Amino acid sequence: MSLGEFELIRRYFTRPPRRADTLLTVGDDCALLVPRADERLAVSTDTLVAGVHFLADTDPRRLGHKCLAVNLSDLAAMGADPAWVTLALTLPRVDEAWLERFAEGFLDLAQRYGVDLIGGDTTHGPLSITVQAMGWVSADKALRRDGARAGDAVYMTGELGLGGLGLRIALGKCAIDAPAAVERLEKPEPRISAGLALGGLASACIDISDGLAADLGHILTASGVGATLDYAALPLPEPVRRHVEETGDWSMPLTAGDDYELCFTLAPEHEAELAARGISCTRIGHIEAERGLRILRDGQRLELGAGGYRHF
Ligand code: ADP
Ligand code: MG
Repeated sequence: MSLGEFELIRRYFTRPPRRADTLLTVGDDCALLVPRADERLAVSTDTLVAGVHFLADTDPRRLGHKCLAVNLSDLAAMGADPAWVTLALTLPRVDEAWLERFAEGFLDLAQRYGVDLIGGDTTHGPLSITVQAMGWVSADKALRRDGARAGDAVYMTGELGLGGLGLRIALGKCAIDAPAAVERLEKPEPRISAGLALGGLASACIDISDGLAADLGHILTASGVGATLDYAALPLPEPVRRHVEETGDWSMPLTAGDDYELCFTLAPEHEAELAARGISCTRIGHIEAERGLRILRDGQRLELGAGGYRHF
């Protein structure tokens, strides 16, 4: 490696802390952080591996953004306010132009959410990026997966299927011109403000990273309930609708990942509160006592392939 490991860390990943509760940051054996008495620390880790989670030629600036965004999205889904991240980077070589852009994408997003990069690890090997994110949530406001009850409504923020469409475009499998879809795939926005606004309101919440069917399925399993979704109510943006019509692949918006919107459940008496808190979202179905996920389209029941429900 041309640039030494420590000089690399100093140059690209060491910034003065912005938070008053960051006492000691990158450069010592550990970071030192100030805990809060009456809140819970929400902690989450995600790894992105080249060739599995992103294409090897992905713009490094977007990659830096994405590997932080997917972790902040987990904090959003918990209703947590982001505070700190660590970054474990495995690099095949030292490419300074790549590192500079990667760090830019990562640190710009960190700054926007008031997050300090407080440490990490830098090693040599096939390109892989692991981020751990930490944030604060009031004890009574954490958005767990196990609180959905029969009679609750199912909602989601934003639009569905853009990430999946973006992936098909990036792989050359779809000719639709939809820059917003590629943007969603490569540069998702964590729904932090929606997650914070849903605190103490939603009965359960998850972020849509592996596809709505799979991720809502986690809420259903954890809560011991089932759901029916109304296909016509799904917030499909125009290019996703067009793709579904052209290919007949109606299941794509339900099974494709990478949307990073929030899916949540809500007791009927809280529905009016959504607008009051400025949460823009769409009602897509309801929770039932009967287990399993049912999808209705024009009164007909649709069957999803097994692929929609599993990672492996
Ligand atoms: P140690 O040998 O104690 O594990 P390292 O040499 O791995 O320490 O790291 C030196 C310092 O740099 C530590 O404070 C570590 O947290 C930080 N660090 C290493 N790699 C990164 C990185 N990619 N991003 C941010 N901080 C890093
Ligand atoms: Mg180390």
